[in-house]
Amino acid sequence: MRFVAPTTWVDALDAKAEHPDAVPIAGGTDLMVGLNFGERPPAALLDLTRIAEITEWSREDGVIHIGAGVAYSRIISELSRDAPGLAAASRTVGSPQIRNRATVAGNLGTASPAGDAHPPLLATGAVVHAESVRGSRLIPIDEFFLGVKRNALAADELIRGVRVPAAPGPQHFAKVGTRNAMVIAVCSVAVALDPAARTVGTGIGSAAPTPRRSIEAERFAAAALPWTSGGPLDDDIALEFGSLVAAAAARIDDVRGTEAYRRLALAVLARRALAWAWADLGGSR
Ligand SMILES: Cc1cc2nc3c(=O)[nH]c(=O)nc-3n(C[C@H](O)[C@H](O)[C@H](O)COP(=O)(O)OP(=O)(O)OC[C@H]3O[C@@H](n4cnc5c(N)ncnc54)[C@H](O)[C@@H]3O)c2cc1C
Repeated sequence: MRFVAPTTWVDALDAKAEHPDAVPIAGGTDLMVGLNFGERPPAALLDLTRIAEITEWSREDGVIHIGAGVAYSRIISELSRDAPGLAAASRTVGSPQIRNRATVAGNLGTASPAGDAHPPLLATGAVVHAESVRGSRLIPIDEFFLGVKRNALAADELIRGVRVPAAPGPQHFAKVGTRNAMVIAVCSVAVALDPAARTVGTGIGSAAPTPRRSIEAERFAAAALPWTSGGPLDDDIALEFGSLVAAAAARIDDVRGTEAYRRLALAVLARRALAWAWADLGGSR
């Protein structure tokens, strides 16, 4: 197996253009598991870990640009205020060792329906910054996931980073697994509130071939929440929101859970995440 280890982003794009079959490796926490389980080794690995340009995040005009090489542990320690939904999801990924290596870009590269970064990215309207020698492309997160472990990247493209609007309001993430830690989600829900725009964002994980939003739940909650008067979250609103999120799940029965369990759990998680976010808003009102 060839091992290509560029030290600049331009060299990485050149290498990917020259060897489109070269597989990028960031934290390696998905890729190496596959190789260790005997998946056919790629012709070449393109190591992205020596490229300083993608190891930083920045804030520009109210948008957080997170480089492809930024590990979850830094999102947790440095971005809990600006990207609280993504930080909350990051806290649930694997173990400290995994979070020190693994990246959101790697989660997007794998594009598993169960990837924990995906629901908060969907709920907040994030954008994937893809790049190749042909130029840059900003892919809305809604258009990024094409199927189970299939994404919208072209063969010569790499993810340079992901752009998340700086949180305009409370954001939460809730996940259930078969145990409390080191666990792939049976299902998960992210909720993001924008009180100024009076909008609600949702993201649902591990309940369809791709992570997805519930547009119906978003529209319902945006119209039903008492943005001006505030007060505790009405039970009927929470119940209907949960039902609409659960209804957005597709048929998915697998080793981790049945469709019926997933729908039940999604409804509960969605109610909880909305209630937490609404309570946060009350505190800051
Ligand atoms: C013990 C363990 C526990 C885990 N727990 C969780 C969990 O709780 N939740 C969860 O979501 N995941 C979990 N994972 C899976 C994994 O950690 C995540 O998916 C992580 O985000 C992958 O990031 P990485 O940087 O390690 O990716 P890598 O393994 O390096 O790469 C993953 C894929 O993305 C591609 N890729 C990487 N970077 C780029 C780039 N810049 N441009 C284009 N393609 C790229 C690679 O080619 C590969 O196809 C776990 C894994 C392990 C081993």
